[in-house]
Amino acid sequence: MNSSLFTPDHKLTPYWWDAVPRPAPMAAALPARADVVVVGSGYTGLHAALQTARAGRHTLVLDAEDAGWGCSTRNGGQISTSVKPGFDQLARRHGAERARAIISEGQRSLAWMAQFIAAERIDCDFGVVGRFHAAHNAAQFTKLVQAVQSQPKGLEVEVHVVPRAEQHQELGTDAYWGGVVYRQHASVDPARYHQGLLERVVTAGADVVARCPVTRIENDGHAFRVITARGTVNARDVVIATNGYTGTLTPWLQRRVIPIGSYIIATEPLPVEQMKRLMPKNRIVSDTRKVVFYYRASPDQRRILFGGRVSTSETDPRISGPMLHADLVGVFPELAGTRISHSWCGFVAYTFDELMHIGRHDGVHYAMGYCGSGVGMGSYLGMKLGQQVLGLDEGRTAFDDLAFQTRPLYTGKPWFLAASIRYFRWRDGRNV
Ligand SMILES: Cc1cc2nc3c(=O)[nH]c(=O)nc-3n(C[C@H](O)[C@H](O)[C@H](O)COP(=O)(O)OP(=O)(O)OC[C@H]3O[C@@H](n4cnc5c(N)ncnc54)[C@H](O)[C@@H]3O)c2cc1C
Repeated sequence: MNSSLFTPDHKLTPYWWDAVPRPAPMAAALPARADVVVVGSGYTGLHAALQTARAGRHTLVLDAEDAGWGCSTRNGGQISTSVKPGFDQLARRHGAERARAIISEGQRSLAWMAQFIAAERIDCDFGVVGRFHAAHNAAQFTKLVQAVQSQPKGLEVEVHVVPRAEQHQELGTDAYWGGVVYRQHASVDPARYHQGLLERVVTAGADVVARCPVTRIENDGHAFRVITARGTVNARDVVIATNGYTGTLTPWLQRRVIPIGSYIIATEPLPVEQMKRLMPKNRIVSDTRKVVFYYRASPDQRRILFGGRVSTSETDPRISGPMLHADLVGVFPELAGTRISHSWCGFVAYTFDELMHIGRHDGVHYAMGYCGSGVGMGSYLGMKLGQQVLGLDEGRTAFDDLAFQTRPLYTGKPWFLAASIRYFRWRDGRNV
């Protein structure tokens, strides 16, 4: 580790946890039965639980670690429309009507997040700040402009082009070739949002038991037995909300998601004037690299939180931190001497078709595979999943019944990732 890059009091935990430490485990004992057992206490699991608990179902949320320990308190807090494939690609695969429905659902998830946070009065620094999506080369800038000019009819979003000559109004760097601003994209403090959600789930009557890994699920055709490290619970319904941490508990799902590391550093506090110059509009930022950089200011606008996929499987933030620092300096050379105060990582879940999936397998409900964009979509599909458990019509989504693909010989260990990332990095370096 290059220790001079870190502040003496640096932390290897998410910046967000300073203000919102992981909650102490709440429910002491495991109940013998519940109507609904939810495995995973991130946004997906808690939103599903909120629906079922408020409908009067005895709901039990279990997590192998502390509540919210997974991506839901580690992420960058950037909220978009979340669907990665474009209309043409989706239309080729699923037909125009389904493509339209999928993209509309992504747009709905973004609008719904704002409504949900406002209606529940969750104090979490949510703001519609807009996203500057930067072109990392000239060819990508041309593609962005074309995409803005040819938005599919009826699916237009609020977006405008920022030529390179005006880039400093968005971002204090010459590292990009201009970009576009998605005006509706939003930011949130992910851990405060999770904490507010957790409080509402508990208030609705759900039990949340942390540090309680689920090790097996048995189904006798009528009910489930959920076996955990701390005892067994009988349940009418089971929800799997484990996303990038999906493991051998659910081998069918494990074969369908690809866990990929995502990494963030926080800088030490920067002078106010410098922050105003580097991030004058306080936008969230991403770029057109396939191995993307994503970053933003901290809610107090004193630090830059800089994220990327600098590795595929590294779990030591002392190693990923300096790698991210080098990328940060590539964008903002004046930060070469700025130190890292926090470095952390988590595992997101990709899928073979780059779409999120919701459904039921062997009677067990699941939603996962947000491909790195799960703040809005994980929340939204978690809510829909809860409605599906309740058998409600409004639980239907455009993602229902989409084939959840795997690949021959793939068991959940992505041996092909390192080579793919190397290839994409090489490609990102070319003007294509
Ligand atoms: C560094 C980073 C940055 C990101 N930035 C963004 C961003 O800016 N915008 C965005 O939209 N998305 C972002 N994401 C992705 C986003 O955070 C996730 O898609 C989302 O939080 C997924 O929520 P979830 O509830 O499905 O899963 P998680 O929050 O990951 O929760 C899964 C939980 O399941 C538990 N679990 C697993 N197995 C078991 C078991 N057997 N028994 C009990 N519990 C179990 C885990 O302990 C974990 O707590 C980022 C992710 C990371 C890691």
